[in-house]
Amino acid sequence: MGLTEELFTWIHEKKCQKAVESLARNGFVAQYCPTPQDAFEYIIEEATDAESIGFGGSMSIVDLGVEAHLLSLGKKVLNAGDHALTLDQRLEIMQRQLSCSLFLSGCNALTLSGELVNIDGVGNRVAAMSFGPSKVIVVAGRNKLVDGTVEDAITRIKNWATPPNAKRLHYNTPCAATGFCGDCDSPDRLCRITTVIDRNPRCSDVRVLVVNADMGF
Ligand code: SF4
Repeated sequence: MGLTEELFTWIHEKKCQKAVESLARNGFVAQYCPTPQDAFEYIIEEATDAESIGFGGSMSIVDLGVEAHLLSLGKKVLNAGDHALTLDQRLEIMQRQLSCSLFLSGCNALTLSGELVNIDGVGNRVAAMSFGPSKVIVVAGRNKLVDGTVEDAITRIKNWATPPNAKRLHYNTPCAATGFCGDCDSPDRLCRITTVIDRNPRCSDVRVLVVNADMGF
């Protein structure tokens, strides 16, 4: 590792650890993961007794490669992201995710004050993050950290998360074409539900893994 990379990793470690401390103060079970492999191993361990595992459509989770591993272990996986499924089939999976044993999700932005900020189009992901599943594990890469307010986090999402998501999903939105938010009224608009989880939800077990690596967007 060169000196630049070493120092880059060091400064991100400090930011990640500050986020973990804030999350713990806010009642979450929070853990610093130096590498994505650490997050992978945490999830696989926590999935040992899970009967059904829901996926919230997160690129961070996709990049970890946990789904294939869980399937190889014979686990029941609930993933509505397969576009070969009909809309009704996808909606049914989303509803079943609300009562699954373990729900896996990314996070669009995580403030250093320990607030999880997300924007959804359907709302199934943020619903499951808040209530329903027996356990929720949120994976937040260092690129999701925001040293600022909830408003700064929302700005981060609309500038860095939604445009590539809209492009990935072939949505007809200004951000998918230009890379910048146009605060659109498009029928394809992704930004319909904005949530801030600033304390561990009262009846939920939400774990947050803060990873010192860029994950998702
Ligand atoms: S409001 Fe529209 S243009 Fe802006 S980020 Fe959301 S979907 Fe994209």
